[in-house]
Formats: sequence, C-alpha cells, structure tokens
Amino acid sequence: MSLKKYIPYQLTQNSTLLFWGIHLSCFIAFFIDFHWWYVGLAVGSYYLRMFFITGAYHRYFSHKTYETSRWFQFFLAFMAMTSSQKGVLWWASHHRHHHAHSDLEGDIHSPKYGGFWHSHAGWVLSPDYKQHNEALIRDFMKFPELVFLNKYWQIAPVTYAIAITLIFGWPGLLWGFAIATTFLWHGTFTINSLSHTWGKRRYSTTDTSRNNFILSLVTLGEGWHNNHHRFQASARNGFFWYEIDITYYGLKVLSWLGLIWKLRPVPKDLMDPNNKTWIKNQVPVEEVPKVISEKQPETVLS
Ligand SMILES: [Zn+2]
Ligand SMILES: [Zn+2]
Repeated sequence: MSLKKYIPYQLTQNSTLLFWGIHLSCFIAFFIDFHWWYVGLAVGSYYLRMFFITGAYHRYFSHKTYETSRWFQFFLAFMAMTSSQKGVLWWASHHRHHHAHSDLEGDIHSPKYGGFWHSHAGWVLSPDYKQHNEALIRDFMKFPELVFLNKYWQIAPVTYAIAITLIFGWPGLLWGFAIATTFLWHGTFTINSLSHTWGKRRYSTTDTSRNNFILSLVTLGEGWHNNHHRFQASARNGFFWYEIDITYYGLKVLSWLGLIWKLRPVPKDLMDPNNKTWIKNQVPVEEVPKVISEKQPETVLS
C-alpha cells in the first residue's frame, strides 16, 4: 500500500485540504502578538478533548469498558467528535478492526505493513477507509442520535470552534482550535504509529504494541498500549499504580458523580509476573512473531 498512490487523490479532497490548511494556519501565530495564556488555552483545549478521545471514542465506544446512560453517551460522542477525527461510529469501527487484525496483513494502520506515515496519518487521509464496517459497530448503530452525529460529524468541531472563538476571541480560534486540534491529531495518531514501534513490551501479545511513559502523558494514558492490547476490556490502561493513566482517574471521578458505572477492572492474574504472557526479557520487535503464542480471545471484539 504505497503512499504515492494516494497523493494525487488526497490533494483534490476537501477534507485533506482542510487537514493541511489547519496545519498551515498555525503559522499565523508567528505574525501576531504572543501571550502565555494563549499557550495555556491551547494546552487546555488539547487535553480536554484528548480526555474524550481516550475516555469516550476509545474506552467506551470501541471497547465498552464501562456503562452509562443514553444521554451521557450522546454527550460523550459529541465531545469526542469536537476533536475533528470523524464520526464516532467510524472511529470505533476502525479501531475494533485494528484489534481484530493487529499487525496482521489486514490491519488498516500497522507500521509493520503500511510504513510509519501510513500508520500515523496516511490511513486517515486515504480514500480506502472513508467508509466503516457497520457490522463491527452494530451495538451502537441502534441509536439514531449516534447515527445522525456520525453522518454529520462536522457539527461537533464547528460548534466547538465557534464557541471557543466567542469566548476567547481570535486567539481562541487560532490557539484554542487550530493549533490545539493540529497537536491533538498527531498526539492521537502516535498510538497507531509510535505505540507500535517505540517502548517496552510487558506482554507477549500477538502484535508489536509497546508501553511508553512519554506517550502516556501525551495521550492521557493510552501510551500503555501493550497493556491495552493484552486486555482491551479494562477501563484502565496503566495496570500498575506507577503507570500514570489520567483518563482512568477522570473516569473514576465520573463514576463517583454517578455519570458512568461498572468500570471493568484489570484481571488480577495479569498483574502477576508469573503470568505466562509476561515477557521476562525484552524481545526485539523483529522477533515478536516468534514469541507470539496465542490470541487472547476474551479481549478481541469483533
Ligand atoms: Zn494498537
Ligand atoms: Zn483499543
């Protein structure tokens, strides 16, 4: 799947032009006045929406690691979509496909098969993945409000951009939306690219997933990606107390407020170094297929 194939097509697509247009607009910051609160605004806007990407798109809609009410489910979907990463059903369906085919030839964003750029952003811009497999997301297709939001996903980021501009003026649009959204795209995309190439492996999963402390800070806990591939059904990706997982702390607060419930825990045996899927000595990635012994069927959604 070569990137070349997509370049002429991509450059003619409105969504791709918008994607690179928002990247370019960030440079306006060099030509206008600067205040540190602009940076604070961008960081706040980045992490607010990162929380909903990880806590909603990923841990709820993709993996159902907790339960909630129908109205809060709608709120979670809307807030996740302010990130401008397409619709909630599109996002979760493709993510479930990734877990079912991780680093196998059918994986839509494996750095092993498609190369680094394809796994990072190329697949998002590719015409091949504009549609999602509805069979993988039937459990949420039954909610018409989610189907509507998914179809007209642009409503959420446009509403967010207007709101942040009304509140903070033009710095809100530039720093709070354009710059924060650009970083948010790449922060999220690291999970498909860097989290499969950079870091350590605790579990001999059937893929190249890694655990990485720096990426866990960038993505509010998603950097514990090897843990996550070992057991996707847990609401926490940092399995141990020292593995910082801010999304999980946020989900705990939401559960104390009664907004979500039944957070699924990490099975105790996975915390045990004598568990047979622990890798005692770090294994080079080239050897990963050799140490793969089994799929973990209890954690694969399909
Ligand atoms: Zn992965
Ligand atoms: Zn996942």
